[in-house]
Amino acid sequence: MLKISNIRIPAEKGLSYLPEACRIILRLPGLPDDAVRPLRVSVDSRRKGDVHFVCSAAVRAENEEEILARKTPGVAPYSEKVWSFPYKVTKPDTRPVVCGMGPAGLFAALSLAEAGAPPVILERGRKTEKRCLDVEKYWETGELDEDSNVQFGEGGAGTFSDGKLNTGVNDERIPYVLRRLVQFGAPEDISYSAKPHVGTDMLRRVVAEIRRHLLELGCDIRFENKLTGIYTENGELRAVKVSSPEGEYRLDCEKLLLAPGNSARDTFRMLHDSGVYLEPKPFAVGVRIEHLQEDIDLAQYGRAATLGTLPASDYKLAVHTKEGRGVFTFCVCPGGKVVAAASERGGVVTNGMSEKARAERNINGGLLVSVTPEDFDGLFGGMEFQEKLEKAAFLAGGGNGCAPAQLLGDFLSGRASAAAGKVKPSYKPGVRFCDLGDVLPDFICRAISEALPEMDRKIRGFASPEAVLTAVETRSSCPVRIKRDESFQANIRGIFPCGEGGGWAGGITSSAVDGIKAAEKICGSMMKGDRK
Ligand SMILES: Cc1cc2nc3c(=O)[nH]c(=O)nc-3n(C[C@H](O)[C@H](O)[C@H](O)COP(=O)(O)OP(=O)(O)OC[C@H]3O[C@@H](n4cnc5c(N)ncnc54)[C@H](O)[C@@H]3O)c2cc1C
Repeated sequence: MLKISNIRIPAEKGLSYLPEACRIILRLPGLPDDAVRPLRVSVDSRRKGDVHFVCSAAVRAENEEEILARKTPGVAPYSEKVWSFPYKVTKPDTRPVVCGMGPAGLFAALSLAEAGAPPVILERGRKTEKRCLDVEKYWETGELDEDSNVQFGEGGAGTFSDGKLNTGVNDERIPYVLRRLVQFGAPEDISYSAKPHVGTDMLRRVVAEIRRHLLELGCDIRFENKLTGIYTENGELRAVKVSSPEGEYRLDCEKLLLAPGNSARDTFRMLHDSGVYLEPKPFAVGVRIEHLQEDIDLAQYGRAATLGTLPASDYKLAVHTKEGRGVFTFCVCPGGKVVAAASERGGVVTNGMSEKARAERNINGGLLVSVTPEDFDGLFGGMEFQEKLEKAAFLAGGGNGCAPAQLLGDFLSGRASAAAGKVKPSYKPGVRFCDLGDVLPDFICRAISEALPEMDRKIRGFASPEAVLTAVETRSSCPVRIKRDESFQANIRGIFPCGEGGGWAGGITSSAVDGIKAAEKICGSMMKGDRK
């Protein structure tokens, strides 16, 4: 196999030109299309007059040695490195328990089951099919189910998302995670795109496929079963307490993989009360900002935006304010919607979601300000701050699930908005225009106001007066971390915190990777027969 790097394809030609580009580079006019496989594809739009794809590709050719002897720049031998889960174990007498079916819990359960130790899986929410109905109802009526919503239920927090899979971490397990997702029905392009994204429509089907596979492997999946307590002896886990529709029960458990996500506030409080060590950590809060997709495309791609060959554009912006706060865009959803993502009644939380096609009129992104444990008192000070903001947003939205919103121009001038301009807010059940200065603390408003003009210098039109700000975005990351040591165990031995809720990952892919790593530690400890 050969690898060709740095293949530049002009935007006008489109990505379908890749096989032809390989034929030209290798001087192989007869090379069939299916001998070419993209390895990485990104869009370079730094020069608006010369927007192009930058690709690398694997190529299968008959005379590879001869081709390599020509020493064509960018052409090299290629062999694929494939990571696989490194353990096989004997089925233990007491099954491991996985708490949470988000990316961390799902990939941990998959790893444990395939290694020979199919776990009991506790998930407080419902299975995807039912969960979708609960979420739709909330978006239509404002009536929230506190255990089945955008945060809780099969697939975890990212199920109603854009399904972006890029991550800041670098780990050999990432291609494995992407490959497994493709196996379960995700689009093939996630394995080579520099900015892979599944889309909520496809992600829901992938999650259901993973569930079917877990059941075939002998996992015992218990929906609407919430972890509510732990039983310990001499600092070691002995059992867990579970609340279910049939009542509360005790389940023997020596190894608990704890992946409850960043919104499980009751679970964090229960763990703390049970003697598990937690610590506060930095996180961020802010608003969703919404623009017309065509305006951002024009700013990012110039005239190439109208060619129809480029993906919906996105952005990534960060500013450091004079007061020392980071203001940054987060979880940008091109061609998507702002979604209601609360998990507690009496609160409003915003986030973003797109389908695979990213074909909606608006693009939205989190516009967040960093906060640190020094901003608050106590272990749960950050969590209480989130709760307070969510309640303030609920009241400012009118107390019926609608979110408070303001036009960006009015936000910068400090006056309440009355109605939308050219950007129609996508949040359902709806928004109530107001002055977000009445919802957000001054230091957050100051930081956003200082950052917006700076961001506008990087993307023209980003601070357009008609852009819509919808509040509040509070759940971008976890305000606490469950402490763990190098064996991935908490101070109570047998508890393996992982994923975003453990405070050890952020985002779908890094949470999945962390879940796999925790499963490796569990299998390793099973093989040693100890808990060290
Ligand atoms: C709307 C939205 C859009 C997002 N978009 C993206 C994106 O595009 N890309 C990206 O990388 N990230 C995105 N994220 C973030 C991403 O979803 C999370 O980082 C990721 O899901 C964290 O994975 P996790 O497995 O650690 O936790 P979660 O996915 O939060 O899963 C935790 C699970 O545990 C369950 N649970 C909690 N407590 C208990 C308990 N006591 N007992 C039993 N079960 C329990 C919950 O119901 C939940 O299903 C988005 C999040 C949201 C809300």
